[in-house]
Amino acid sequence: MGVAFIADAMLGRLARWMRFAGHDVLYFRDMDDRELVRTARAGGRVLLTRDRRLPEDFRVRCLLVRSERLDEQLKEVLSVFPPPEDAARRCMRCNVPLDAVGKQAVKDHVPEYVYIHHDLFHKCTDCGRIYWEGSHMRGMLGRMAMIRRGVAESKGLG
Ligand SMILES: [Zn+2]
Repeated sequence: MGVAFIADAMLGRLARWMRFAGHDVLYFRDMDDRELVRTARAGGRVLLTRDRRLPEDFRVRCLLVRSERLDEQLKEVLSVFPPPEDAARRCMRCNVPLDAVGKQAVKDHVPEYVYIHHDLFHKCTDCGRIYWEGSHMRGMLGRMAMIRRGVAESKGLG
């Protein structure tokens, strides 16, 4: 069983990227601290927070995220909790695991140049958003791979 997370209001971008990496991350923009802690505890989720006043409730597992930069934040979290190798990517909006879908299925739902130049598509079963590995996605994948390698290297040194 993988570890699941809940991110505080400061960490929306981190939450989205962690979903893309395959992690289950809850994020609510306007949830107050008590509710965050309660939800983390109820779901056995690790609370990701930038708040140095860590919750006094010791039944909650926390990870204090120190950096303000997204790539550093990802490194901080993924070095402690690397996503399982076989984890499905999740919708960056909905946190739902994505389904691989055939090219034909997306024909009327993506721009023509995207349809022509891509073969691999994923779809969110909740919001219906379609993901493909365009330049934006490739950039993200590349960064993710670099972060994974960085994690592997630092493990190797330890
Ligand atoms: Zn979605």
